[in-house]
Amino acid sequence: MVVVAHSSRELVKENASLRAPLSGAWLLAALAALLAALAAVAHIDHALPAPLGADAPPERFRGLVAHQLLVNLTSIGPRVAGSYENEVLAVSMLVSTIKHIAQHASPHNRIELDVHAGSGAFALSFMDGMSNVYRGVQSVVARVRGAGGRPRDRSALLLNCHFDTVPDSPGASDDGAGCAVLLETMRALAAQPRPLRHDAIFLFNGAEENILQASHAFITQHRWARDVRAFINIEACGAGGREVLFQAGPHDPWIIEVRPRHPVLARLAPCSRSALADVRERGAAPLRVVGGAGAVRERPHPRGH
Ligand SMILES: [Zn+2]
Repeated sequence: MVVVAHSSRELVKENASLRAPLSGAWLLAALAALLAALAAVAHIDHALPAPLGADAPPERFRGLVAHQLLVNLTSIGPRVAGSYENEVLAVSMLVSTIKHIAQHASPHNRIELDVHAGSGAFALSFMDGMSNVYRGVQSVVARVRGAGGRPRDRSALLLNCHFDTVPDSPGASDDGAGCAVLLETMRALAAQPRPLRHDAIFLFNGAEENILQASHAFITQHRWARDVRAFINIEACGAGGREVLFQAGPHDPWIIEVRPRHPVLARLAPCSRSALADVRERGAAPLRVVGGAGAVRERPHPRGH
């Protein structure tokens, strides 16, 4: 190797770029292009259909009606599991709304309603096996089925949300919006001018924030749990933004493929973010079920949720 000595002044000259620095015009053009791209992304992200009102055909999803249901629920205030607001006021609001929906269902579909109270315990494996024990947690459960359907075909789609909240929030996004969307989805399904081919079970569970107690109570104790073949969980993942299909069962890509063409799935989750699901699958996201969907192939495991 030959080492050639240079003075520091010569080195500075040799390393100097021969290109002229970017002009201000180029920088402005790049900035404008970036802003235009951000505006386009924001527009696409907020491009939603105009919500329908109460005068829309009954079999359509009425966004303004769903919004009013959300106002009714959140006006109760925070709804901590076990509180008067959660166990009495919120349950009463849900029951009266579902009874009203049942009264206005089409003659081809009917709704069964059940207020379920469950007690049990399960291990929290991610918290060193700490036991989660609960007693008398309530859920409001409704089943929509076609009138005169085949009695032996009991398979059902489970649609889940939760109406309880953390102590310091009325829970508009977590998960009041999910409950409002499912109430309106139930109304639109029950109003269809033909019998449903498969049952839909709507689970408004009243104890999620204290780690999935009401979900556990339903899947281990409710008489309809055995009929569930697939499920969709409507949950919050931050406040604001459009709905996303956050996570799908790892062995059930069919729900991703069907979603854009399906009238209900496309409404519930217009776009998906599989990258987020990948992150969560690898344990890098908080341990919460957020907007999950999948299939149930076996009898629910007693420790599952
Ligand atoms: Zn939640």
